[in-house]
Amino acid sequence: MKIIAVGMNYAAHNKELHHTLEQKEPVIFMKPDSSLLKDGKPFFIPDFSSEIHYETEIVVRINRLGKSIAERFAHRYYDEITVGIDFTARDLQNRLREKGMPWEISKAFDNSAAIGTFVRLDEVGGDINNLSFRLEKNGKAVQQGNSSEMLFKVDAIISYVSRFCTLKIGDLIYTGTPSGVAPVAIGDHLQGYIGERKLLDFFVR
Ligand code: ZN
Repeated sequence: MKIIAVGMNYAAHNKELHHTLEQKEPVIFMKPDSSLLKDGKPFFIPDFSSEIHYETEIVVRINRLGKSIAERFAHRYYDEITVGIDFTARDLQNRLREKGMPWEISKAFDNSAAIGTFVRLDEVGGDINNLSFRLEKNGKAVQQGNSSEMLFKVDAIISYVSRFCTLKIGDLIYTGTPSGVAPVAIGDHLQGYIGERKLLDFFVR
């Protein structure tokens, strides 16, 4: 099982991180299976960072084997989604980026891929390109987005990625974060929603 993630997929988030580059292709990176954090288990802040950001994202689970999938057929390759958090060691990422080095480890560390409970797409409206989602931190909404705002939509991402990497059953795709990213602190209570369905609920320790 692999975790594929998309960077810089919402214009407002790119602005807050001061990315001005206009992208013609999606920015793709991966996380290892050891990064998964599920079943509401707590997230422990690692010792190598003092600036761990939450990035709240729609997550799609692949349910068929596929290679070089045409965009118009991509919807056949998933039927369950959830909300997840792509935890990012922003200080480490910025240091690596300044040196022109790959920033993989700032995204791929243990427990950096929090994942909620999956629901069938039709349970949350049925339209992959119109899913509103949000993160509440300590009961207050801190990130809000809608999949309609993605620069590269889910089907385009699947088509693009599958040119390079065969998609397998159970692979996960983190589809990028809207604006509002910020650091977590010990004791924070994080709850993720698609529409009014709470699918993610855990604490930072
Ligand atoms: Zn992300």
